[in-house]
Amino acid sequence: MDVQAIEEHKKAGFGACSGTFLVLFCKNVVTGQQIAELWYKVWPNKFFKKNQNMNNYDVVVIGAGAAGMMCAIEAGRRGRSVLVLEHNKSVGEKIRISGGGRCNFTNIEVSHKNFVGANPKFVLSALSQFAPKDMIALVDEHNITWQQRELGQLFCDQSARQIIDMLLSLMSQFGVVVKTNVEVRSIGKRDDGFFVASAKENITCSSLVVACGGKSIPKMGASNFGYKVGEQFGLNILATRPGLVPLTFDPDFLARTAPLAGIGIKAQVTHKKTSFTEALLFTHRGLSGPAILQISSYWREGDEIEIDLLPGIESFEQLKEARNTHAKQEVLTFLSTIFPKKLAQMLVGDNGGKLGDMSNKKLQIIGEAINSWRIKPTGSEGYRTAEVTLGGVDTKHINPKTMEAKDVPDLYFIGEVVDVTGWLGGYNFQWAWSSGFAAGQKV
Ligand SMILES: Cc1cc2nc3c(=O)[nH]c(=O)nc-3n(C[C@H](O)[C@H](O)[C@H](O)COP(=O)(O)OP(=O)(O)OC[C@H]3O[C@@H](n4cnc5c(N)ncnc54)[C@H](O)[C@@H]3O)c2cc1C
Repeated sequence: MDVQAIEEHKKAGFGACSGTFLVLFCKNVVTGQQIAELWYKVWPNKFFKKNQNMNNYDVVVIGAGAAGMMCAIEAGRRGRSVLVLEHNKSVGEKIRISGGGRCNFTNIEVSHKNFVGANPKFVLSALSQFAPKDMIALVDEHNITWQQRELGQLFCDQSARQIIDMLLSLMSQFGVVVKTNVEVRSIGKRDDGFFVASAKENITCSSLVVACGGKSIPKMGASNFGYKVGEQFGLNILATRPGLVPLTFDPDFLARTAPLAGIGIKAQVTHKKTSFTEALLFTHRGLSGPAILQISSYWREGDEIEIDLLPGIESFEQLKEARNTHAKQEVLTFLSTIFPKKLAQMLVGDNGGKLGDMSNKKLQIIGEAINSWRIKPTGSEGYRTAEVTLGGVDTKHINPKTMEAKDVPDLYFIGEVVDVTGWLGGYNFQWAWSSGFAAGQKV
């Protein structure tokens, strides 16, 4: 509860009662939320009377991201009165910056295998209700042209803005009310639904949808409000951590790889039993690119990752063969036909010389540097640059068909706030569309 709301409570003339609560509140014995709930229970009329802007909706959605807007559209399509509250000044900020401004809005093939979380199969019901083909049909219907890039990733031909405009236009078509610059500060339960308090107004609704996203990129509006609501209603919140994020490395590693900044190659990056074969980029901060972002969702502090710079080729065998066929060639010259020269130099290290003069041992050392380069990241760049947040509302507490909290009727959690995190490649938006759609059929 904010200072303004406390002031209003005081003014309302409940001196002794609110004074007591205020003291307890200041001592953290009761929360602002508990005060608001009690107030609402005892004096429901007074709770709202002082607020000129009190409104009632069938559905309130907190967060105008991909999931929240899709849910609002579907609920509006069913004739429900829907209000979407967003604390940013515009809707769909993450859509706008996604996919380098072209929004990788889905992937041609999406299964539970593309998701990380305590129970990846949780996604199956929502995905079956609104699949990639349904998103493609929607985008086609709105004349948004798209292109398929590698690994089945679908991007807008022109701009991510087109996706936001499509969602805005559908919300308007179905009478959804969207209010931006409105931060939801507290939620309370009432007999026939919820009340929602923002800095500007109090609202009641029958169904409440939490679509607040995760903690990634705080400067774009990310908040932990969704997790707090989950906790408030007794749902388990699984530990959160940044995902799809560049990893960081120690100064020695950075000094060794600094000359390679700008080089990009296709590599296989492995953590335990999980591997991705995608682009790997050397940067002035170490390693990045899709292969590193993907593995970052699996990597844990203290673990090593293994990089194969020539996936599918046994380099030791290849080098032995080259020793027979190109005995007079320098190993560096040979490797420079395969890799950019600076990378070849790093791989050869102190083991240079003519191929014909090289022992099996030396060739094996170089072969291992190529096929199983083991490195230990020191950390990640964190939520500042992470594309997603791992963990979140435990799926055990959510009905996978409707996204409704199992023990709290009419409370829904959708999108990234739930413990469902997709790989890089359009999977996260597909989860947002599918979970939003599923909830939209029930709210
Ligand atoms: C740089 C970047 C690029 C990405 N590119 C892709 C891509 O190309 N393809 C892909 O599939 N995924 C991509 N992602 C991931 C994708 O953006 C997210 O998974 C997706 O946006 C999650 O949708 P959401 O609706 O659950 O949450 P969000 O999009 O985060 O929406 C949540 C909304 O809730 C609002 N909010 C939070 N708290 C409150 C509050 N208390 N009151 C009111 N409003 C509140 C936030 O401001 C936000 O607008 C990218 C992410 C980033 C950061």
